[in-house]
Amino acid sequence: MSEARQLQCLECGRTAPPNGDWESGTHPTLGSMTKCPGCGSTNVQTKR
Ligand SMILES: [Zn+2]
Repeated sequence: MSEARQLQCLECGRTAPPNGDWESGTHPTLGSMTKCPGCGSTNVQTKR
């Protein structure tokens, strides 16, 4: 269980581990989301 999973911001291309310095935002319909601290986008997905 030591996968090197990363989250990637699809807007600016930033990558960081899920426990990194991502911010959390709240989406009106989707609830809690990961938010990029660099560009403020919530378009962040797990990179694999
Ligand atoms: Zn970004």
